[in-house]
Amino acid sequence: MKRLEGKNALVTGGSTGIGRATAIRFADEGANVAINYHSSETEAEITLEEIQTTCSSIREKGCREMLVQGDIANEEDVERIFREILKAWRRLDVLINNAGIQTASPTHEMAMDAYDRVLAVNLRGAFLCSREAVRHFLDRGGGGVILNNTSVHETVPKPQYAPYAASKAGLGALARTLALEYAGQGIRVNTVAPGAIATPINREWTDDPEKRAAVEDHIPMGRAGEPEEIAAVFAFLASDEAAYITGQTIYVDGGLTLYPDFRTPWSSGS
Ligand code: NAD
Repeated sequence: MKRLEGKNALVTGGSTGIGRATAIRFADEGANVAINYHSSETEAEITLEEIQTTCSSIREKGCREMLVQGDIANEEDVERIFREILKAWRRLDVLINNAGIQTASPTHEMAMDAYDRVLAVNLRGAFLCSREAVRHFLDRGGGGVILNNTSVHETVPKPQYAPYAASKAGLGALARTLALEYAGQGIRVNTVAPGAIATPINREWTDDPEKRAAVEDHIPMGRAGEPEEIAAVFAFLASDEAAYITGQTIYVDGGLTLYPDFRTPWSSGS
């Protein structure tokens, strides 16, 4: 039996990058997947087609995959997204708060609408989706999994990306709080913190060999991560193999949080 057989999962921002890889991985492990997308309908449909191909090759009955459009920063959209899923499936088992954005600017020049939008998608959006998921989990008697996509910047500062770092630190705190609040109802809440992963959010350096080499030079394992390497950890955390894990952040970063500057012993003068 596949690890996620029969589980119904929602992936926010599931049409591209890590969300897309996660949706495909979940389908591959037997889950039914709802792919939330905001504006990239064509990409969402391509992801859906890939999932359908995956499903028809592994399952006799196929999948019950679906697309759910909506801006996760918008309360009405999130309520509608959950209504659509529950109308179709009656039950949700796993929420993956994956959608996220970033914006770069020196802090003293940052426009408030740019700051507010990053917080709205990355933190408010995850809160709104988590709240709907918990309401449903409690309604059906407890049990359920919430997973969050933070970043190494959950803990590592990121100059010129203050709202991004603040939103990801906040998301980590939100996850640990919900984990404690609902552990007694069998709801597990965990977080994956990726390092530098080759996805559309990083097009600025993934598509430029020189810039990519400069990024990879900072990573102890010497390479950027692939979205599938993050998806694999989400799949583990969603499965019963992680039944006793809650309130944790797993860093999946090729060693980026190991203080790479200490690869040579400069601090001891040798
Ligand atoms: P991505 O840009 O491909 O994915 C982000 C997704 O979020 C997109 O599909 C986008 O359409 C969606 N989205 C944006 N605003 C939305 C909204 N309001 N409502 C619904 N969906 C919305 O890049 P990615 O790297 O796959 O990013 C996924 C997550 O991974 C993000 O939370 C990001 O912060 C996190 N992350 C990425 C990296 C990396 O190096 N790529 C590292 C650490 C964390």
